[in-house]
Amino acid sequence: MFTCNSYDLLTFTYYLKYFLAINMTIVPFIFFFINFIQAIKQKKKHIKFTKYFIIDRSKSLFYVLAIFILSFIIHSTLNNNNNACYVYANSNTYQLYKENYEKLSHMEIETNVKNQYLENVLMNKKNEDINTLVNNTNDSNNNDAETVDNYLHETDTNQLNRVYVIDGVFYYPGYVYGNRDTYSGMYCPNNPSQEGFNNPYGYNNYFYTRLTRFIDEANKNGYKITMSTQGCRSYSTQSYYYSTMTPGRAAKPGISFHGFGIASDLEFYQNDGSVCSGYRTDTSCPSMGWAHQNARNYGLTFPLLNASYREDWHIEPINKQKY
Ligand SMILES: [Zn+2]
Repeated sequence: MFTCNSYDLLTFTYYLKYFLAINMTIVPFIFFFINFIQAIKQKKKHIKFTKYFIIDRSKSLFYVLAIFILSFIIHSTLNNNNNACYVYANSNTYQLYKENYEKLSHMEIETNVKNQYLENVLMNKKNEDINTLVNNTNDSNNNDAETVDNYLHETDTNQLNRVYVIDGVFYYPGYVYGNRDTYSGMYCPNNPSQEGFNNPYGYNNYFYTRLTRFIDEANKNGYKITMSTQGCRSYSTQSYYYSTMTPGRAAKPGISFHGFGIASDLEFYQNDGSVCSGYRTDTSCPSMGWAHQNARNYGLTFPLLNASYREDWHIEPINKQKY
């Protein structure tokens, strides 16, 4: 995939796109319009179409055709799904990109992180369009999403466990086989409290803040929930789980969100203080029912509720994006 990771490149393709469009529409139109007027004038003056006139016109027709064909070839070559830069270079995307670019220019961020973010902005624009379409036909889930968007806009470009957060979106490295830099669990802190973490477990700071807010609110409503004290699961621990647990039960080492500090396994309790049993439902274990109902309002989600191996305890932030 040819990516669009620089402002200059997007600006260039944006103007190139307009230039090509003009060559294919306005230029031929003006040419034929002028010639049409001149032909009428000649006819009015009863001047015969001399050989010279026709040859002269054919020459310019040749140039206009050449410009049209060349522009068309360039446009067709660039305008395919592999060229994000050209495909997304429309006014809306360009403005959005420009805004975000200017927003980031005041922050001290590594160039590659900045480019990754901007590229995501570009891709999200596309997703947003799709979501708008989907939401227009299915309005039911809209309100929850808006509640989340109203206050979950954390930004922290310092990477904790290789994860950075911009505007409420958690960016994590995409797994590349053979490249350990991209594996989860390779960067867990040894001593979280002394390494910039706001919690002793090694959770990503903003995920921890969301979790705490969520669990506090549960407690206020009379439901007891606790989070795992394992905030960042190391690659070797995940390998151990993977090799000892039933196949499909534990994520492949390197891809678990636990290793990026953005997943937690919760414990749910009954009103009498006992732990909810393994054979539980949202009804038989009301604290879990409350959690599944309300997670979204705290920027959290239970992604494995409908998985083949249902994990009703596994929670993650809602907005995650590979970089
Ligand atoms: Zn889990």
